[in-house]
Amino acid sequence: MDSAINTKVLVVGAGPGGYVAAIRAGQLGLDTVIVEGDRLGGTCLIRGCIPSKALIHVAGKFEEMRHATGKGSLGISIQQPPALDLAETVRWKEGIVKKLNTGVGALLKRAKVKVVQGWAEFSDAKTCTVKGNGAPVTISAEHVILANGSEPVEIPTLRFGDTVISSTEALSLDRVPEKLVVIGAGYIGLELGIAFRKMGADVTVVELLDRILPLYDEQLTEPVKKWLENAGVTLHLGAKALTLVEHKNRPALKVQTKDGSQITLPADKVLKTVGRRPRTRGWGLERMAVDLNGQFVKVDDQCRTSMKNVWAIGDLVGEPMLAHKASAQAEMVAEIIAGKPRHFQPMTIAAVCFTEPEIVAAGMLPDEVKAAGIDMISGIFPFAANGRALSMEGGDNGGFIRVIARKDNHRVLGIHAVGRHVSELSGEFAHSLEMGAVLEDVAGTIHVHPTLSEAFHEAALRSLGHAIHI
Ligand code: FAD
Repeated sequence: MDSAINTKVLVVGAGPGGYVAAIRAGQLGLDTVIVEGDRLGGTCLIRGCIPSKALIHVAGKFEEMRHATGKGSLGISIQQPPALDLAETVRWKEGIVKKLNTGVGALLKRAKVKVVQGWAEFSDAKTCTVKGNGAPVTISAEHVILANGSEPVEIPTLRFGDTVISSTEALSLDRVPEKLVVIGAGYIGLELGIAFRKMGADVTVVELLDRILPLYDEQLTEPVKKWLENAGVTLHLGAKALTLVEHKNRPALKVQTKDGSQITLPADKVLKTVGRRPRTRGWGLERMAVDLNGQFVKVDDQCRTSMKNVWAIGDLVGEPMLAHKASAQAEMVAEIIAGKPRHFQPMTIAAVCFTEPEIVAAGMLPDEVKAAGIDMISGIFPFAANGRALSMEGGDNGGFIRVIARKDNHRVLGIHAVGRHVSELSGEFAHSLEMGAVLEDVAGTIHVHPTLSEAFHEAALRSLGHAIHI
């Protein structure tokens, strides 16, 4: 027999959008139910941000040990080349995922949120039926927060299967493919492609556009391109992946190159990372009378949909499809439901590519500033002149920090970095933009020596015309 639940707040999806919304709603004393069809943690914790960074970490360690083999590096040498047991690596990664998954469950429990396991299907805007392992549960709510997330985009001529895989399968392989072809040179494809190259795979990247990481300017992505070339990753830019064929008894990918010719690339695995689409199909969204904005659910600056008391957050509502954006919207929506006056108007949602080297982008890019017709000044400080970077082998990869500000009042508009470990600077960058810093604020802040953050200080000094160390 169906059971029924009536609640103040129903959250659908327990990714970094949904579980944060539910925890905050619970903290605020709202009667809250969260429904999740898979595992608590969503794409980010289970098959995205965290497992990919775990694999990237292992790949980096393995590569360092390979460099230390024989003659050695940095005075460290090992006699035998290291061996990688990817199945064991994946088990270790799963351990981290499990820890975080359990942690989310504990946090929800502490916030007195009821977790219902199963897939929600909506019959109207405020009612869904959840089908899980047990009897179906019907839930009706005063407020519904949709946080259904996203899924990988399919290419009709290249369906996911044994050879063609998405990032999800790539994070759980039991051995390193000898030949890996990555379709799509966005951040997910390159993060994983670089990791597999470091783990010993022969990697080829096929990208439809003329450039890698097309969301960023070429100055910022150049060090990553250089790394790929030096590491022997073959790049086919302006090339189109066509179909999977068999070539010499082995799977291969047929590709149309920039000049129009066709080539066949042997591929034990084809990692297809051509983007993600919001998960709007298959759970009754069409019965909720909610407007769409293109493929996304349409929301205003409070994440209200067109249906009263139905809210939507995270990957479901648009770019950037990033975990921290989902969580920020989640907290806000819970607080609005609890009566607090909130709006989603961040100065920046910083983004990081965990490539080699890493990229951080916060605020406006140079082209965006130009397009807005704003006169700007900018300063770049290379990591080659930063002691900490040199001492961490991060001074010779072309990395730098770049600051862009308005020429008239020096308000900082954009801060960008490419280099080893720069992801950890993203917080300072976002904070500066959010606080409305001017160049003199950054220049007047004493930055710890020796740290990478000194390059931020120097970039600000340089844009003011008086850098010290260059
Ligand atoms: P999701 O995390 O996708 O969660 C949605 C949840 O809803 C899922 O658990 C799903 O099972 C559940 N669900 C959907 N429909 C229903 C239903 N009808 N009933 C019940 N449950 C349902 N972002 C970053 O910020 N940094 C990174 O480094 C980063 N790395 C990434 C690496 C990879 C390989 C991938 C794939 C993504 C990465 N992302 C990263 C993106 C990040 O994972 C997403 O932006 C984030 O997870 C979005 O959160 P969300 O809560 O909107 O949706």
